[in-house]
Amino acid sequence: MDALAPEVLRCFRAIPMSIVRLEHVFKDYTLGEQKVQALKDISLNIEGGAFAAIAGPSGSGKSTLLNLIGCIDTPLAGKIFIDGHDTGGRTPDELADLRARTIGFIFQTFNLFPVLSAEENVEYPLLQLKEVGAAERRDRVSKYLAIVGLSRFARHRPNQLSGGQRQRVAIARALATQPKIILADEPTANLDHKTGEGILQLMKQINSNFKTTFVFSTHDARVMEMADWLVRIEDGQITGESAREQGRLDDHPYNSVQVGGSDRSETDGAQA
Ligand code: ADP
Ligand code: MG
Repeated sequence: MDALAPEVLRCFRAIPMSIVRLEHVFKDYTLGEQKVQALKDISLNIEGGAFAAIAGPSGSGKSTLLNLIGCIDTPLAGKIFIDGHDTGGRTPDELADLRARTIGFIFQTFNLFPVLSAEENVEYPLLQLKEVGAAERRDRVSKYLAIVGLSRFARHRPNQLSGGQRQRVAIARALATQPKIILADEPTANLDHKTGEGILQLMKQINSNFKTTFVFSTHDARVMEMADWLVRIEDGQITGESAREQGRLDDHPYNSVQVGGSDRSETDGAQA
């Protein structure tokens, strides 16, 4: 096949690849007799490789938006495209499969299994991927625990770890499936400021090195400042969007870069 002319190639490169696209998305909740309009006509594009924050006050619709992007919930109306796939009209099984392969989650309250060790928690989502065998699982668990600086804590259970360490286990768990997108719902809200900043910096480092797209929600101005793409939401509507930096990448070469090596020193305060 003939090579494309340089001006045509330039034209392709100029089109940013949206890894997350929402078109006129609405979401209601019914509580008894009452209907809550949680999202009202949300349209949004997030480019592959972005470090994007969804910022807004409590009750503004941040979690609802992340749950829809994460295919945990479905919209009342509108279209949601994840990594080019239209999520509309899919069965729960198909959505679960898209989620397992494309998306990792980090939660405000860490959501680790208390009876499982750090390494078992990281391994857990890999058990859903039939193509990942036992040896590959072991490799990935040790690789991602090392990246978050927790190799020495592999056998510890969540209640034997500080809040910051727990959130790092959750980051390793999110990374283990090598997803293109990591969604983090107020990941620093249950951490003191210094620990939260360390978690954000680790996420940013992973974003830079692996080109993993991060979408995190926050109501903390200091956390918003670290984003390169900021979406402001109020009362279920987008009130502003701003970019800090252009030129993102859409591939994610997980196997070519290492983020960290040795265990980090633990300075963060333990959570009760
Ligand atoms: P945020 O994460 O920004 O605090 P949410 O997305 O959790 O906001 O909530 C947006 C709105 O939807 C709020 O008014 C909230 O009370 C309502 N809401 C969220 N989840 C539910 C639910 N499961 N049932 C009823 N109302 C809900
Ligand atoms: Mg929320």
